[in-house]
Amino acid sequence: MQLGQICRNGVHPEFRNLASFSHSIEKGYLVLFEGIVMILLGTYNHPSYITRYSPKSTYDLATSIRGFLNLPEITWRGMNATWSLHQGFLNLVVTSESKCWNPACDRMTYSWSKRPEPTSVYRRMLREPGNPLGGYLCAICGTYHRCHNGELPSPAVIARIALRFEARAKAGADVACGTCGRLESQFSKRHFMGRDGRKGYYTRKHRVHTDLPGKLLCPPFFEFFEKGKRERTDEEVQILLGTTHLVTARGRGETIRCKNPACGAIEVSNTPPKQRHILNRRVRLVLCPPFNNYANRGSLRNREQVEATLARRMQEEERERAQNDDAAASRPESV
Ligand SMILES: [Zn+2]
Ligand SMILES: [Zn+2]
Ligand SMILES: [Zn+2]
Repeated sequence: MQLGQICRNGVHPEFRNLASFSHSIEKGYLVLFEGIVMILLGTYNHPSYITRYSPKSTYDLATSIRGFLNLPEITWRGMNATWSLHQGFLNLVVTSESKCWNPACDRMTYSWSKRPEPTSVYRRMLREPGNPLGGYLCAICGTYHRCHNGELPSPAVIARIALRFEARAKAGADVACGTCGRLESQFSKRHFMGRDGRKGYYTRKHRVHTDLPGKLLCPPFFEFFEKGKRERTDEEVQILLGTTHLVTARGRGETIRCKNPACGAIEVSNTPPKQRHILNRRVRLVLCPPFNNYANRGSLRNREQVEATLARRMQEEERERAQNDDAAASRPESV
């Protein structure tokens, strides 16, 4: 087992028989036995060495068992760097197909390598996470089970969800939202941290709502429909897309200019939110705050107001500059 150690120069192997069995046993029990011996002899004793094959929980287990058994303290560094049981038991049925555990469902479940198609429709899920012997659920029952507190779907619910799953699978990768037209890849990636501390990211997929069959919706539109039980109107979509575009442009540090031809003021970076340019809902143009107010009152191109505003802004800027100069002059010279 410790071939690397045995093969080192000057090491004389001294094999001992720790256990013998009168008949052949499942290989997994040998691995379990190895783990027990590792704990009893204190050879798994290098807790700062954390890898996929030697997670922290296994060192904790070894420590708590040794503590419980009141075994003497160990002074050596140990020998094993891998928790043997990580390899687990060989599950002979894992690659065979098996029926979904839900009696109301007649779908088959498949192992990863034997799926008829590489779509999420054929995902196989554990009925009880953490219990490999608890039975398999198909993707539909498994997802429902997870989202409904352990409840299993009825045949009617399964049929409805199946339609949704199939529409999603048929659409393929990177599809456009049926309402706003944005692609899946246009949405920012979401970060996650797994239970083992592993970090990663995923893209949220467009989904089909049960009450809106055949139509793929992007995550925000899906949530909107779920909450309000209605779709956004064309006008609402345009306003939302315009606002999203403005926010993205701002995030990227692009120049944001007032779209009123008489103004064209550029938004200064780090402007407080209330003084930022805004997408006006009436005229659907990005405008600076004063012209946004005018546009709301229905007078986007009122020459007099435009000129008055420009004059007032120039005065304000001048006053501000003068104040700044004064402040600079009155500040004591710094070395
Ligand atoms: Zn099922
Ligand atoms: Zn959308
Ligand atoms: Zn403006």
